[in-house]
Amino acid sequence: MIWYPYQQMKTMNTPYKIIDANGVYLYTKDKKLIDSISSWWSTIHGYKNKEINDAIENQIKKFSHIMLANLSHEPIEALSKKLEEWLPKDLDYCFFSDSGSVAVEVALKMALQYHINKNQPQKNIILALKNAYHGDTFKTMEVSDDEDYHFILKSYPKNKNIIHINTNIEELEETFIKYHKNLCCFIVEPLLQCAGGMRIYDISFLKRARKLCDKYNILLIFDEVATGFGRTGNRFVSDIVTPDILVLGKALTGGYIGHAVTVANKKVYDAFYNDNPNLALMHGPTFMGNPLACSIILKSIELFEKNNYMDKIKNIEKITRLELENFQDERIKEIRIIGACVCIEVYDKKHLKGYQEFAYKNGVFSRPFSNYLYAMVPYIIKEEELIKVLQTMKDWFRNKAL
Ligand SMILES: *Cc1c(COP(=O)(O)O)cnc(C)c1O
Repeated sequence: MIWYPYQQMKTMNTPYKIIDANGVYLYTKDKKLIDSISSWWSTIHGYKNKEINDAIENQIKKFSHIMLANLSHEPIEALSKKLEEWLPKDLDYCFFSDSGSVAVEVALKMALQYHINKNQPQKNIILALKNAYHGDTFKTMEVSDDEDYHFILKSYPKNKNIIHINTNIEELEETFIKYHKNLCCFIVEPLLQCAGGMRIYDISFLKRARKLCDKYNILLIFDEVATGFGRTGNRFVSDIVTPDILVLGKALTGGYIGHAVTVANKKVYDAFYNDNPNLALMHGPTFMGNPLACSIILKSIELFEKNNYMDKIKNIEKITRLELENFQDERIKEIRIIGACVCIEVYDKKHLKGYQEFAYKNGVFSRPFSNYLYAMVPYIIKEEELIKVLQTMKDWFRNKAL
């Protein structure tokens, strides 16, 4: 028996069974569907990419997996070298893991231990944002502020060492002034908070945060698990404001397999680099740096560069703005567009009830949540396919009586 994610098993609809996938399309027995959400925002190249498939085959002929403790291999060495030159500034030190949640755990552990290693263990409060989502493991749930996870507070008291603030510069400054002596790190999803409702905020907030973190010796962590690889119209938000620790996942493997990486800058790495073994980072997921995953990531980055994905993303944003920016309906509270992400927020989630089935009939796979109807398409999508996705969203409101 399969226990499905985020579902009341008793009342959920039968999931659509996928029998094949190619490009932007998912195939059921009798339908061809555009995947408008890229399998949880990850399949940026679409499905069945020939070059990535070949990269997997080449590696699988050698070995699929070896552990990373006391062993190394070509794909992880080549990938780390690539990330070192490809990621901004001195974000050069790559710690791999198997999922975004674990990679965020690693980032938080790094930040806490950074201050312990520096003999300032009193710096142990984590600052995060309201409406944040950083994963489903326990520490990431605590750092998150997603209503699905507030059940946890019924069993555990609120963790006093975690503070949540709004994306408001005044509130940011006040919090730093009040807590800076004890602040360990500030973790954010930069520019776009995804699972918390596709909320966009201004880069000036992050620029101010960077300055305050430097001033008060607090580590800035960007969780770019969702925003990385172009989703916001920036290659990484870290290209504009550079954090001390960067977390990548989801699109990192082009959606082929679960893998993530926590990348530290030199300042962080140096706090662990010592003759004293007690200062080492004691962490090691079984499948970290999996050779198949590393081969996939290398090829995925190559495609991202070679095929000018940033231009594709700009074009997706342009078409999305043309189609949706001025669309209005009494049920719509706001339409938000950034890069290759569009979200229609409705006043009441009942206005989206039945949308998934409607989209399915129209040849689009969609999965609205709460009050949010959104699209985060694969970057290889063709113009007419993208228009179909956006048209389906508009048709829902046009065809459905109030
Ligand atoms: C999805 C997501 C995670 C968790 O990644 P998993 O691979 O699902 O564990 C963490 N942070 C952000 C911003 C995410 O969108």
